[in-house]
Amino acid sequence: MLHPIHNFSNLGDENAFAVLARANQLADQGRDIINLGIGQPDFKTPPHIVKAAITALEAGEHGYTPAIGIPALRDVVASEINGRYGASISPDQVMIMPGGKVTMYMAISMFGTEGVDILYPDPGFPIYRSMIEFTGARPVPVPLREENGFAFSADELLSLITPKTRLIILNSPSNPTGGVTPRSEIDKLARGLADWPDVAILSDEIYSRMTFDGLEHQSLTAYPDLQDRLILLDGWSKTYAMTGWRLGYSVWPKSLFDHARKLAVNSYSCVNSAAQFAGIAALTGPQDATEAMMAEFDTRRRAVVDALNGLPNVSCVMPKGAFYAFPNISATGFKAKDLASRLLEEAGVATIGGPDFGVHGEGYIRLSYANSLENILAAVERIGDFLCQNRP
Ligand code: PLP
Repeated sequence: MLHPIHNFSNLGDENAFAVLARANQLADQGRDIINLGIGQPDFKTPPHIVKAAITALEAGEHGYTPAIGIPALRDVVASEINGRYGASISPDQVMIMPGGKVTMYMAISMFGTEGVDILYPDPGFPIYRSMIEFTGARPVPVPLREENGFAFSADELLSLITPKTRLIILNSPSNPTGGVTPRSEIDKLARGLADWPDVAILSDEIYSRMTFDGLEHQSLTAYPDLQDRLILLDGWSKTYAMTGWRLGYSVWPKSLFDHARKLAVNSYSCVNSAAQFAGIAALTGPQDATEAMMAEFDTRRRAVVDALNGLPNVSCVMPKGAFYAFPNISATGFKAKDLASRLLEEAGVATIGGPDFGVHGEGYIRLSYANSLENILAAVERIGDFLCQNRP
């Protein structure tokens, strides 16, 4: 019997991958499955981005790159952030990452240990809690409430900070709720954090380009007073439909940058070279494909929320970002995970139960509208039929 020294029973999982596997299995058996479980755009990477990777490969870009990424891409990322948010990031703080997730892995590893508290959004991306527990730190959920449009309350978050708190994790626009935290709340948080100069911040802004109704994304990089303790997570996966390319970026305070670089050198060496050239094309090339994708997501968003609000005992607030709807199903009497599992097995609709995103997710299910409008509306109709014919 082998005994790894870390407690792997503390390491969690991402149930969305298990739901995807089960949905595919049912589809392979000939079942008609509509998948609203998956958190990736149902679009292809725009052709000019694909072309840039092919050109790089044909030009012989086959070797290692610097662990922190190729200089041209780091420059482009810094200009992009400074241009969009009026920030003053130096390219020296930018690190190119193999996807968005690795930034959270590194940041949580840097601060998590026994005796330490880490605050994270709940409902939120499941990897936050999983990684916090793996490090031995205590996960302290910051509830995101429906009545606030699933934005965090700065007062509530600040009230949870204690001398044990080392890191707080923020995510807006949010997975799984689609909630966007308004600027006024972030301003208030930034003011309150002045009292806690030793608390680091990980701001997961992977959906930064995915807001609706003309809403401007409010980045934490726009707050000069926080820059010596802010870690920014963003990337290409969602905005450019590049989840499989494994390309992301982070911005580190100067004091942490070399730790992150060494973690890269000790684990993956560098990010895929051709993917980095694709990343340059994505940020510097035409943005029309992303705009068209967001226009399509907007149409679906309105349609899915409208359809959900027409179902018995279901209500759904209008999400302001990302591509998820998070309807409240508590009045149906079903436990959220039971409902999600029965919808998949009996109605052929894949969704994710809210508790997969934390205890405050009970009473909700997550629908990703990364599917055709026709399929989304058919799925909601199936959910309605299921609810009319079944009791918990
Ligand atoms: N952060 C959030 C909130 C996400 O929803 C996701 C992916 O679903 C990620 C990070 C990870 O992104 P990536 O696929 O680039 O690792």
